[in-house]
This record gives sequence, structure tokens and C-alpha cells, in this order.
Amino acid sequence: MKRPFVSAQRLRQIAAEYPTPFHLYDEQGIRDNARRLHQAFAWNPGFREYFAVKANPNPVLLSILQEEGCGVDCATGTELLLAEALGFRGEEIMFSSNMTPFQDFLLAHRLGAIINLDDVTDVEFIASLPSIPKKMCLRYNPGGSFVVSNGIMDTPAEAKFGMTRAQLSEAVRALAKLGVEEFGLHAFLVSNAATNGYYPALARLLFQVVRELHEETGARFSLVNLSGGLGIPYHPDQKPVEIMAVGAGVQKAFDEILVPAGLGHIAVVTELGRFMLAPYGQLIATAIRRKETYKSYIGLDACAADLMRPAIYKAYHHITVAGKEEHPHDHVYDVVGGLCENNDKFAVDRRLPAIELGDLVVIHDTGAHGHSMGYNYNGRLRSAEVLLRTDGSTELIRRAETPEDYFATMKFPQSARL
Ligand SMILES: *Cc1c(COP(=O)(O)O)cnc(C)c1O
Repeated sequence: MKRPFVSAQRLRQIAAEYPTPFHLYDEQGIRDNARRLHQAFAWNPGFREYFAVKANPNPVLLSILQEEGCGVDCATGTELLLAEALGFRGEEIMFSSNMTPFQDFLLAHRLGAIINLDDVTDVEFIASLPSIPKKMCLRYNPGGSFVVSNGIMDTPAEAKFGMTRAQLSEAVRALAKLGVEEFGLHAFLVSNAATNGYYPALARLLFQVVRELHEETGARFSLVNLSGGLGIPYHPDQKPVEIMAVGAGVQKAFDEILVPAGLGHIAVVTELGRFMLAPYGQLIATAIRRKETYKSYIGLDACAADLMRPAIYKAYHHITVAGKEEHPHDHVYDVVGGLCENNDKFAVDRRLPAIELGDLVVIHDTGAHGHSMGYNYNGRLRSAEVLLRTDGSTELIRRAETPEDYFATMKFPQSARL
């Protein structure tokens, strides 16, 4: 059963201090999970988690992950600036971009980040940098379908990311000629893979290709980047990934494929986003309207601007009505926001306890790809973010937007009065 981080009584106190809607994050949960991940990969001395900044760029949360030993994975110049501001430097930054503007490569290079090349045509941009990076990573797309024991997980052939196998060989040769001395290999094949088998199967594939590329080109490999994609149980019936089993599965592939080839020095790294933060964030909203037409609606003060996943992916997010966890779930509601868009629904036909206006509604697993995907459609303003500290106190770590923030980038006619 999924539970809110705090009791209904404590949640009412917090909501009295910070008006809803807001995302609430659990510092203890974040730290414990990061420590479990590091434990699962402790067998690999070079292991590093590069947290995918796009999942949640809040500087306070990034600093917590930094304290737990994580680096950052950035994809844009702005994310690089954020990493720089927080003191991430050199190989603590992975730059996994695609369709990259040259100035972003320049910035990544100035920071000493590991550049993870998405395409063979990027090689000529690397040649134009002020100096040639000593170490580079390459992004692989094996095409076809990616099959793990329980069936097809995804179809890389449909994904815009990464290079073909032949392009990998071409890129390694061209970069080695330019002066790159060490290589890494990366692939992101499945998103939200909530199985213990995904990383071990991906690792096996990447380790084999590293071995081939090393034998074929003579290039030195020092890194395998398993990227992100580990899933979380959004639905209460789903089981969480067992991270110790995942680490052990990757280790087995490492021992079977890399060690016998004399490649046991390779560092295994990850770029997890969802797995690091999603379960440790909850969107807290108030029920402000009840509407009965052909269906029963509960209207919240939050909307898809605060959490887009249900609207764009029809994603399930569990909902708890604070203080009514044990009440009979004998009502069926559509729980919706107020955007003028019919996909602005956090839940459709959801069994819940009777909801009164003023009830606090907790939407679970919003810590990653939640606030960060927010937008300003309909003039809706992005919500605040509040951190539940390990001592139980709370801290506002991002204020809610104001209309002034929304107007700030617009040009108004002289006669306008704001
Ligand atoms: C989005 C992304 C990640 C993180 O993905 P999660 O599903 O949040 O783990 C990691 N690496 C790259 C290159 C990405 O685009």
C-alpha cells in the first residue's frame, strides 16, 4: 500500500504554511535509496550515478544527491550551467545530448564533462573544439526490438537516439585519429523498466559490443554507461525493482564478458532519474470542486501544469485522500485539473473514498518528471516545491510562480497596465 510521507494531521499543518498545490519531497527516502544504489554497485570501484537533471533540476535536491556521491547527467547548456553553479566539475558531469548546438559542446568541454556523442556526424564538431577531449562516450542504438526474458520491452529502431553498430566503429576510429585516448559506450533502450532483468540484459549487450570494438579497433575502453530507465512501481500492485539483484546481475555479466577479455578495469556508470527521485515526491493538492454530469468529477487546485504524465502518457499515479486511507473506497471519480483540455485528468474512473471539498489529495510518485515537465498553458503557474527534511521539518525549496513571472518575458504595448 502506498502511503503519504507524513500523517494527515502533519500534512494539514504543512498545507497551512505553504498553500497547495506543491510537490513535497522526502529527504530521508532520497538518501536511503541513493545509498542502496551505491551498495548494489560497490563491486565496481569506478561506479558513479550521474543523476539525470531533466528529471528534477531543483538545486537543493541536486545538492543532496551530490552529498550522496552522485554526479549529474546534463543534456542542454542550461542544465550544464546549473551543474556548474552547484560545483559539479570535470568527470562529475556526463553530457548526454542529442541534436546538440555547438555552443553546448563548447560549454561541456570547458567544464571538462564527459561528452556522450549521440551521432557520428557529431565527430566533426568535436574536431572543432579548442582541444580534443581525452575521454569520450558513444551512444549506441542496436535497432530492432529489445527483448528481455519476459518479452519485447521496447523498439530501439523507432528511437531517434544513438548510432548504429557500423557507425560506432566509424566514430571510434575517427575520434582515435583526432586524439581521443579513452572510450565509453552508452545505450538507453527502455524507459520505466520496472524489472530486475533490464540492466543486466543491457549490460550484457554493451559489454559484448565494447569487447568487439576493442578487438576490432584497438581502442582503449574505460567506461560503460547503462544510462537511465530503471522503473518504479507507480501502481500499488507492482513490485519495486530489487536493486541488489540488479547490481549482482550486472556484475555477473561483467565477470563473464569483460573480465576474461582483460577489460576488468572498466567503470560501470548509470544516469538514473526516475529511480532516484520519483517515489520520494508527492504532489499535494486540495479538492476545490465537485461536479456531477455523466460522470463524477473532483476538481483539484493542481492541474497537468504540475504533473503532465497522466495527460501525455496516460500514466497511472496513485492517489490517497489524506486521513481517509482506511475509509471504504466506494466512490468512482475522475480526478481532474482545471485546464481547458480534456486530457487534464490525474485519474479516470478511480475508486476512492468519498471526497469533501477541502480534502487534501496526495498524488504519489511525482519526484521525477513531475514539476520539471511543468508548463504555463492557460496561464497556469508552476507550483512550489517543499522539502521534508530528515528531522521532520519542512523547507520551501522553490516558490510558486507568480503572474509577474509569467509576464516577465513578454513585450507589452506601452498602454498596458500591469
Ligand atoms: C531521460 C534520460 C535519463 C533518465 O531517464 P529515467 O527514465 O528518468 O531514468 C538518462 N539518460 C538520458 C540520456 C536520458 O535522456
